[in-house]
Amino acid sequence: MTIQTLTGLAQSGALKGKRVFIRSDLNVPLEQGHVAEDTRIRASVPAIRLALDAGAAVMVTSHLGRPKEGTVGPDDTLRPVAERLAELLGRPVRLVADWVGGVDVAPGEVVLLENCRCNPGEKKNDPELARRMAALCDVYVNDAFGTAHRAEATTEGIARHAPVACAGPLLEAELDALGRALRSPRRPMAAIVGGSKVSTKLSILQSLADKVDQLIVGGGIANTFMLAAGLPIGKSLAEPDQVDQARAVMDAMKARGVEVPIPVDVVVATAFAADAPATVKDAADVGPDDLILDIGPRTAAALADQLRKAGTIVWNGPVGVFEFEAFAGGTRVIAQAIAESDGFSIAGGGDTLAAIAKFGIADRVGYISTGGGAFLEFLEGKTLPAVAALQARGASEK
Ligand code: ADP
Ligand code: MG
Repeated sequence: MTIQTLTGLAQSGALKGKRVFIRSDLNVPLEQGHVAEDTRIRASVPAIRLALDAGAAVMVTSHLGRPKEGTVGPDDTLRPVAERLAELLGRPVRLVADWVGGVDVAPGEVVLLENCRCNPGEKKNDPELARRMAALCDVYVNDAFGTAHRAEATTEGIARHAPVACAGPLLEAELDALGRALRSPRRPMAAIVGGSKVSTKLSILQSLADKVDQLIVGGGIANTFMLAAGLPIGKSLAEPDQVDQARAVMDAMKARGVEVPIPVDVVVATAFAADAPATVKDAADVGPDDLILDIGPRTAAALADQLRKAGTIVWNGPVGVFEFEAFAGGTRVIAQAIAESDGFSIAGGGDTLAAIAKFGIADRVGYISTGGGAFLEFLEGKTLPAVAALQARGASEK
């Protein structure tokens, strides 16, 4: 299905003098009122530049954190983001509060509209709010892949009412790269799903089990799989109520002739702490007071070997508590193997991106998605509501 793009509109000269409303993802971590990490702001700059250079009057908004609707608390304001954005653009960025009723902005100017999640009705996609916001612009641009799996007023409702609705370059690139990797993946295709909980990733595990040639689990998720395999896991983070589901995923892979590899060795500690002494144990030897905080070196080496031979790798979730150096070894080995693989790798997830940054492999990953939940839902083959809204517009206007 076709989606109009900001790039296409800019090239055709259709943006000159037009009011362009861009929904970006500027949800960055803050520390003491300053932007602690600005990847998402930098990623949002190309769309804003494109609209400015094409002669538009540019309004940009984003959510930040999880504010209470109806108020803008001190932690909710996009002011620090406006400051950083101004530095990156090399021009002033005015922050506009109370903007739903009208925005003063001239062609060649860019304003940042205060945290859109402070507007009552944003989260539940209130149609009246969406209509009022759509009335602010001639062209609506969605450039926020990270929230595309949520139908909210600035991501979905507005796209239905704005005179023109299109995808920004960041959203376009995500859909292209992920779509290509999934439509015709080079085989064998391996997925590695780590992180803390099976319950939050069960549907991605189930759907990957239908698509991939190898399914690797790690982190707290692997603990639940170890439990399902009848291994002792002591006091490790695990979800006993997900054991049946884990077993079903193992069976689904087995029916296709492959095993979900279960760790043969692990790194344990007796406390969840950065300075807790780390001990490598065989999987069968985990004691009743042990916490499994990483996969062991033999397991990591075997998994790395599989990953190096893959034609396509999908990675979400660290395989251990990589934030603590003593338990970062497994994730480091996996990250290195992904970097060294000749296959096309795609990675996404908040903590996965942190691990990629920590191990310095960003430039050797085929594609790094900015989405967490949206990345996972896209991989599952689900329709992202914000994308569907753009597709519906694209189809009706062609
Ligand atoms: P992502 O954000 O990439 O999707 P998750 O949020 O699912 O990843 O999980 C990341 C978290 O899982 C990390 O904070 C990491 O410390 C934690 N984790 C990984 N392995 C374990 C483990 N064995 N025990 C407890 N926590 C773990
Ligand atoms: Mg996370």
